[in-house]
Amino acid sequence: MEKIIMVRVGELFLKGNNRKYFVTLLDKNILAALNGLEFRFHSTQNRMYVEKYEEDDEGEILRRLQCVFGVSSLSPAWKVESDFEKIRMLCDEISPKKGQFRVTVNRADKRIQKKSMEIAADIGGYMLSKSPERKVNLFTYDFDVNVDMREDGFSYVFYEKIVASGGLPVGCGGNGMLLLSGGIDSPVAAYCMAKRGVKIYAVHFHSFPYTSELAKEKVINLAKILVPYCGEIELSVVPFTDIQYAIKENCPIEYMITIMRRFMMKISQKLAESKNCGAILTGESLGQVASQTMESIQVTNSVVTLPVFRPLIGMDKTEIIEIARKIGTFDTSILPYEDCCTVFLPKNPVIKPSIEKAVEYENRIPNGAELIENAIRNVEVLQIR
Ligand code: ATP
Ligand code: MG
Repeated sequence: MEKIIMVRVGELFLKGNNRKYFVTLLDKNILAALNGLEFRFHSTQNRMYVEKYEEDDEGEILRRLQCVFGVSSLSPAWKVESDFEKIRMLCDEISPKKGQFRVTVNRADKRIQKKSMEIAADIGGYMLSKSPERKVNLFTYDFDVNVDMREDGFSYVFYEKIVASGGLPVGCGGNGMLLLSGGIDSPVAAYCMAKRGVKIYAVHFHSFPYTSELAKEKVINLAKILVPYCGEIELSVVPFTDIQYAIKENCPIEYMITIMRRFMMKISQKLAESKNCGAILTGESLGQVASQTMESIQVTNSVVTLPVFRPLIGMDKTEIIEIARKIGTFDTSILPYEDCCTVFLPKNPVIKPSIEKAVEYENRIPNGAELIENAIRNVEVLQIR
């Protein structure tokens, strides 16, 4: 008998003609997630199996697969030929010798004539005969012996279903350019969009020397923490200091953040287009700060033509933090390195900016287009694996 890990996929996206496309993509993502480990992988229409792995790696494989979007649940299982004698013996051998239990049979292999209930009763009876300290109880039980009889002629026996991330396989939802700061919100936004199948590209605006190398390292570390969920991330680090100087010198201080955001959006759109991204993604949440009022969002949004997705727009900070903790980005996000916005932060930023004023002030910067071109030319591109 052989120990394997059974991988179940979300039911929703398996419907219709896209099934093959989704499954192939998910297979690819699973293989990437398990990179570096010893195993064999076997994929069928609605189940995948990780086989022939080192016993010690089981926990690690489960942990990694739990992060892969498109996987709905996982079960470590024993694999045996769909032969009643063999199944009975296996169930007896691997189950605790005492306690209340039940047997649950799923007969996906319709070539088998016996009904699931009869098979379960047969296995249960055998297990009782082998150990008098076992008791059958269908409602209150210490262990549930699940026997999944598949079409491939093998049965899989397992006790637990570990809930995984759900969602859609990363890549099926197109590419998105995420504005990744070092804060709490944008990494959570990455997680939310990857969950809907979006492949994440990231851009970070860096204000060297006002923000330190440590601040950049922090963003790189955040991207690394996201890799198990998002897959490999290409991170573009944009030098932003010259633009910030130009704004500070030419525009009223209360519009500093508004205009900075407009520059960020313009640059992000250009990078997005160059990477074939169909959307820009941000970690904005309505009303969280002055730059995230409806008016501010309208003013910053008006410089781009790509759709901007803000998956956190209706979430409270506490809800965002809950996800940040779950995915493991929180502790890194709260490290106290200044980000480019805090360095040039005005005391009283405008809460309800107008597009007309923003454009007027922005036009006071004599070489805006050139500054954008320069910033893009000097982007540092990092592959985060
Ligand atoms: P976060 O926790 O994501 O930093 P925040 O609450 O600090 O968000 P803001 O600073 O207003 O909010 O930023 C709003 C959004 O703008 C961020 O979620 C992010 O998408 C983007 N952003 C802000 N600063 C940067 C930066 N330096 N580089 C890239 N994107 C940024
Ligand atoms: Mg921030």
